[in-house]
Amino acid sequence: MLTQKNLTAQQVAALCALSISFIFSIVFYIETQKFFLTIGTFLSMSVAGYFTMFFVIEKFVYRKIKVIYKLIYQTKATKKEEFYYKNILPQKTIEEVEEDVKEWASHTEEIELLRNNEVYRKEFLLNLSHELKTPIFAIQGYVDTLLNGALHNDDVNEKFLTNTSKNIDRLVNLVGDLDEISKLEIGEQKLFKEVFIIQELIKEIFEALSIQIESKEIKCGIKKGCELPLQVFADKEKIRQVLTNLIENAIKYGKEKGEIEASIYKIDGRKILIEISDNGGGIAEEHLPRIFERFYRTDAARARKVGGSGLGLSICKHIIEAHSETLHVRSKLNVGSTFGFTLPSGKNL
Ligand code: ADP
Repeated sequence: MLTQKNLTAQQVAALCALSISFIFSIVFYIETQKFFLTIGTFLSMSVAGYFTMFFVIEKFVYRKIKVIYKLIYQTKATKKEEFYYKNILPQKTIEEVEEDVKEWASHTEEIELLRNNEVYRKEFLLNLSHELKTPIFAIQGYVDTLLNGALHNDDVNEKFLTNTSKNIDRLVNLVGDLDEISKLEIGEQKLFKEVFIIQELIKEIFEALSIQIESKEIKCGIKKGCELPLQVFADKEKIRQVLTNLIENAIKYGKEKGEIEASIYKIDGRKILIEISDNGGGIAEEHLPRIFERFYRTDAARARKVGGSGLGLSICKHIIEAHSETLHVRSKLNVGSTFGFTLPSGKNL
């Protein structure tokens, strides 16, 4: 019994009773030299000691644990549970009780997660309806105005139709982004990985965005010292989407005549780190942990009315995570932002 590490309440009571009775009996025998009386004293002391100890442990320890059990299961005990608390629980060791409480704690974490998901779901629906409402009401307004006579007013009809078309594009983009994000979230999007040179892809994207870049007179390019072609192993089209989004954001939230720089580094021979930096308005610290959330936009972005649905970075994050890599951000207000992610090197395949 002594070699056993975790003792039950009964075992603790028996052990204490036997030890005390044994010591007392030895002293008693030395004093009286009466063998049978000593045996009788030992037995009666052991039995009385066992019940007293068990009663004390039961009353002061297990009754309190019983209350904890009842509390954590948040129910009034049924007959079966009462039997359990009375007969089985005292046989449990403190370590087993600890295990039960830990298991309960993990359930409460699940409940907390579900609660957070519920809040997240409500927020998502609210944001979604807001994002849908804005272009739909705009379209409704323009179409109504055109039908009420503006159609024949050559000063405004083309402008109103162009605005209608822009809002329809916005809706189409939003639905496209939502479709993409749901597919990414349920893991339906397959990756078609290949080896390609990351600098070439970045140059293609700068080229494709040249109109936006030139309109803000932004200077952009690959950072000096990062020109040496590096191969990565990834889904090229998905990485094009990520980089396009990051560079578009750098343009949108960057300043006129600003700078956008792409840096590419080899880390520990197995990974390539790609970073897109701008010297724009930056992101305040309190927004940083949330900008990868669906629909999240900083107050500055909302106020400037630039930008899209707020789904771009969320899509980027999903794509990078689907590659088992991470997307991160460093930013300082009025200094600029750097978004970066790693990809496996294409060299080691
Ligand atoms: P959006 O469609 O609004 O651009 P994103 O998901 O791409 O949505 O970005 C989320 C928010 O993160 C933006 O609304 C903006 O507030 C902030 N953000 C993203 N990139 C930058 C950047 N380069 N500089 C400053 N703010 C940025």
